[in-house]
Amino acid sequence: MVPLSSDTQTQPTPAMRQAIADAIVGDEQRNLDPTSIELTERICALLGKEAALFLPTGTMCNVLAIKTHTRPSDLIFAEANSHILRAESGGLSSYAGVVISPIATQRGVFGVSDLDEEFYKCTQVPQPYAPPLTLLCMEQTHNFSGGSAWMKSEMKEVYEWAKEKGLNVHTDGARLLNAVIATGTPAKEFARYTDSIWLDFTKGLGAPIGAVLAGSASFIEKARRYKHMYGGAMRQAGIAAAGCVYALDHHIERLQEDHDNCRVLASALDQMDMIEVKNPKPDTNILLFKLKHGESKDLLNHMTTQGIDGGMIGDDIRLITHLDVSNEDIKRTIEVIGNYKG
Ligand SMILES: *Cc1c(COP(=O)(O)O)cnc(C)c1O
Repeated sequence: MVPLSSDTQTQPTPAMRQAIADAIVGDEQRNLDPTSIELTERICALLGKEAALFLPTGTMCNVLAIKTHTRPSDLIFAEANSHILRAESGGLSSYAGVVISPIATQRGVFGVSDLDEEFYKCTQVPQPYAPPLTLLCMEQTHNFSGGSAWMKSEMKEVYEWAKEKGLNVHTDGARLLNAVIATGTPAKEFARYTDSIWLDFTKGLGAPIGAVLAGSASFIEKARRYKHMYGGAMRQAGIAAAGCVYALDHHIERLQEDHDNCRVLASALDQMDMIEVKNPKPDTNILLFKLKHGESKDLLNHMTTQGIDGGMIGDDIRLITHLDVSNEDIKRTIEVIGNYKG
């Protein structure tokens, strides 16, 4: 199968497996795992943050960050189709106990006018009636709108608005490095405009396990306690961290190939009469499209029987390029979709 349903499908390469086999390990829970420490130090340098935590998953990064930034019953702002709202099993409400005010957008990126409008709604009645708004979340890149990359100026504007209102700012940066490659903006320049941020190693970076959450020293100290409380403190985690360190050294620049493949796929599908591409010029590695007439699910079934693995997000078929998808795979995918007779 051509594994286009997600960039989480990547298999560790032989060289990454070797780095994992050679990892020097210790007790991560007691902060004695040299490879986890190396990884978090590398991320602090990459993002210009004081401290960082190695965690098993991105979902846990979001949970810990939001728990650390808020108190139960606080109100937080997040995009209406954000991963934290749509795809994390509602964990925020059980772990952090917060209320989300969803901000609807076209492409996953909101601006000051959207925020002003939402803020107005949330402050129509005074406290104690209204829940206290304390946190704003961004998602870089925005998954469900097709991997949209925030520009640095867009993040800056939102961050400054939030600071004016006395809010903390958190960024779900699962695919932050895709945004870095797509925009040419260094990771640090994005991270300046958020108090906490994390990135995932199990998406396009191709590692089997791991994500790193970064922020101020006091933020990370508090988050470390919740990491322990929620069962995320590990033992010889360097086995996993070594794959992440390897990805930092070898798999960042190559994300450009994934973006190029996604563009090629997008423009080919955009030229087919039966197809409506939602993002004909994808910023990064995610493509959304549907049939103009008929059930897109039927097209997806046709693709599956022809060896192309994809997924659905709402009415759209979603295809994601990554290091296990070659130029040849893209050609084959275009051929298979072109052969569909609804
Ligand atoms: C994948 C993803 C997550 C969750 O990461 P896991 O490592 O799978 O827990 C969070 N946010 C976004 C935007 C994602 O794409």
